[in-house]
Amino acid sequence: MKTMTCKQLGGACDMEFSANTFEEIADLSKNHGMEMFQKKRFRPSKSNGRDAKSYEVSKWNAGLV
Ligand SMILES: [Zn+2]
Repeated sequence: MKTMTCKQLGGACDMEFSANTFEEIADLSKNHGMEMFQKKRFRPSKSNGRDAKSYEVSKWNAGLV
């Protein structure tokens, strides 16, 4: 089990991520970064958060935001 902080991964806070592999930590960190990003930029809306989220993630991946 490894633990890294958001800061160590280039993020802005001290949140800790624990996982068995670096890939898992990178994934956790990526999801966390997207959550932070969404909290900042997008107001919670409607009930269907999952679709909204994957929509924003695909925009993010496409470099549109
Ligand atoms: Zn963070």
